[in-house]
Amino acid sequence: MLRVLALVAFLVPATASAESAPTVQAQLSFRDFIHGVVDKLESWNDTAIPDLSVLTTEPVERTESSGYGWREDPVRRRGQRFHAGADFRADPGTPVLAAGNGVVVFAKRWAGYGNVVFIDHGGGVITRYAHMRKIETKVGAAVTAGTRIGQVGSTGRTTGPHLHFEVRLDGRPVDPNTALAIAELAREKPELAHIASFALSPDLQRSAKDLQDRKNRRELLGRPERRGAPKRQRALW
Ligand SMILES: [Zn+2]
Repeated sequence: MLRVLALVAFLVPATASAESAPTVQAQLSFRDFIHGVVDKLESWNDTAIPDLSVLTTEPVERTESSGYGWREDPVRRRGQRFHAGADFRADPGTPVLAAGNGVVVFAKRWAGYGNVVFIDHGGGVITRYAHMRKIETKVGAAVTAGTRIGQVGSTGRTTGPHLHFEVRLDGRPVDPNTALAIAELAREKPELAHIASFALSPDLQRSAKDLQDRKNRRELLGRPERRGAPKRQRALW
């Protein structure tokens, strides 16, 4: 909370005596607004967010990733299924890298994950790397950020080669892309990262929708110009 207050103080500079009454009022209502937002954020965030700054490295270099949240089951093609990680598209054999310093706590074939490695980074932060063609590390190994731990593949429940990457905070999955972004912020601007980390609060993370999913895209982003518009009169001739 102290960090939040420090940030608010930084955002709202002290009022100079020469300023007019309307300016002072505007500043006051802005401070009240910020105060309300912070209170709301704090009330959502009954779980402390672990320090993510240990995560420094993308698990697959130079590739697009996406996919955290509710989406249509990509294997069965019907029904909703929660996707607990981000998918990094890459060719089979592409090196998979440790996202941060840590110790390998799991490394074998496991159900839908296929060949999967878990790295414990300490402080409640664990990363998972799934569907690998080959595991190139073992349980107990200490790894540094960027250490090669395996190769991209399509073992387990997949529709094609990619790395399924998860970030788990005290056991619960969060959006890895948000987590990596907050990790970077935590190294550069810790006060801002504290505010941003509310995005990882359990309620928001549980209800996240994968925006890559066609159905979600239609619902959330699709064709706003038609929403609520009266039905077009059809010409019948
Ligand atoms: Zn996945």
